[in-house]
Amino acid sequence: MSAPATFDLWSPATDTLAWEEMQERQLVALRETFDRLRRHEVWRRRLGSTGSPTSMAELADVAYTTKSDLRAAQEETTSERPLGAFQLVDTEQLRQITTSSGTTGAPVMFGLTTRDAQSWRSAIANAYRTAGVGPGETVALTTGMAIVAGGLPYADGIREAGGALAWIGGQTSSRMAGGMARTRATVLVATASFAAHFAQRCAVELGRDASELAVRTVIAGGEPGAGVPHIRRAILDAWGAQRVSELMGLGDVLPAMWAECHVGNGMHFTAAPDILVELVEPDSGRPVPWEPGATGEAIYTTVSRESCAVVRFRSRDQLAVIARECACGRTSPTVRCVGRTDDMLIYKAMNVYPTAIRDVVLKVAGSHLTGNMRVRKDSEGQVRFDDPLPLEVELAGPADDVRTGAALAAAEEAVRQQLRVRVSIEPQPGGVLPVSDYKNSLTYVRT
Ligand SMILES: [Zn+2]
Repeated sequence: MSAPATFDLWSPATDTLAWEEMQERQLVALRETFDRLRRHEVWRRRLGSTGSPTSMAELADVAYTTKSDLRAAQEETTSERPLGAFQLVDTEQLRQITTSSGTTGAPVMFGLTTRDAQSWRSAIANAYRTAGVGPGETVALTTGMAIVAGGLPYADGIREAGGALAWIGGQTSSRMAGGMARTRATVLVATASFAAHFAQRCAVELGRDASELAVRTVIAGGEPGAGVPHIRRAILDAWGAQRVSELMGLGDVLPAMWAECHVGNGMHFTAAPDILVELVEPDSGRPVPWEPGATGEAIYTTVSRESCAVVRFRSRDQLAVIARECACGRTSPTVRCVGRTDDMLIYKAMNVYPTAIRDVVLKVAGSHLTGNMRVRKDSEGQVRFDDPLPLEVELAGPADDVRTGAALAAAEEAVRQQLRVRVSIEPQPGGVLPVSDYKNSLTYVRT
C-alpha cells in the first residue's frame, strides 16, 4: 500500500502569513463587521458603547456571546425571522440552514447566505486539505444527518478540497460497510470513538478485517480523542491506516476550524481569515499568549459572516498549544483540545477534566481497554464529587483476566498520583457503553 499523498496548501497566502499579522488584518476587517452589526437592534444592545476594537487587548473587553444567548434568541422567533434575532438578513437571502449537534441541549439553527455558504465551503476545504484530502482520495463520510454541521457542510468541504465524496453515513451498518469496500475509500471521516467501533462492524459485516480495506487516512473529529496516543494507535491498527488526522470545529461558528497536517503534531487553525480566534483563561477572561505549553479556552468571532454572526463566542473548548512552528510550512500554532470547560468536574476541591482522566487510565491500562469510557453522574448539573468518581471503562478482552484487574488498580493509583483525584473504575464488557456515530460524551447521567 502506498503512503498517503500530501497535497498543496489550500490557501498559501493565508496559510503562511505570520500569525500576529493575520490577527491584525482580521481586526481591521472586524471594524467593518462591527459597523454592520450595529445596524441591528440585537447587536446594538449587546455591543453597547464598545468601540470597534483596534487591538487584541481591546477585543478582550467586548462581551462574550454564549450558547445560551443563541438558544434564548431562538425561543422568540417571527415569520420574518424564523431563526430569531441573530438572523441578520431576510429569509430570501438564506440558502442553507444548519444546526449545531445539540449534545448540550436543544440544537441551535444557523442560516447561511450565498457568500456565507461559500466561505464555509472554502474554510472547511482548507481543514480537509490539511487533514489529507485532495484529488485521488475517495472519502467516506459517516455522519448520518445532513442538517448538522458535520453533515452537508462537511460534504461540501470534502468535495471542494478535491476529494471524491462517498457519503455512506445514515444507512444500516451493513450498507455502510459495503460502501467502504465497494468504493475502496482511502480516507475515513468519523468521530474518534466511531472510527474504532466502525472497524469492528466492518469486520463482522464483511467477514474480513477492516485493515484489509483501502483506508490509509482516518480523519477524526467531533470530539477530543484522536490526539491521545493510545486511541490514535488503536485507530491506525484497526484500519491498517498510516495517518490519523484530528479535525475540530464548532457548529455555532464554523464546523471545521482546526486540522492536523501530515506532520501530526497537533491541529493548525485553518479558518482564517473568516474566523478570528482568541485564547483566554476561562475564569478571568485574561488573554493567554499562543506559546507552547499554554492552555486556555478558545473564543471565536466571525469576521465576515452576513447572517447569524457571532462575536467572541465562548466555545468551552480548552486548548493546549503544542507548537509555533511546523515543517509543513503553515504558520498558525498547533493545538490539541484537552477538554471542555463545562465538562470540568471537581473532586474535593480538585478540578479535573474527564479527558485528563482518560489519558492517564489509557497510559497505564490501555492494552486492556478499548478506549471507550465515561464518568457517571447523578444529575445533569453534578460537578462536585465527594466519593471517588465512578468511571465505567470498556474492556478489550475477557473480564476475568487477573492482569486486567491489576492494570485497572494501577490506573486508579496513577490517577490519584498524577491528577490528585480518586476514581473508582468499573470494568464493562464490550457493547455495554454506547457508541454514537456523531458525538460521544465522557460523562453521562444515571437514569
Ligand atoms: Zn503542519
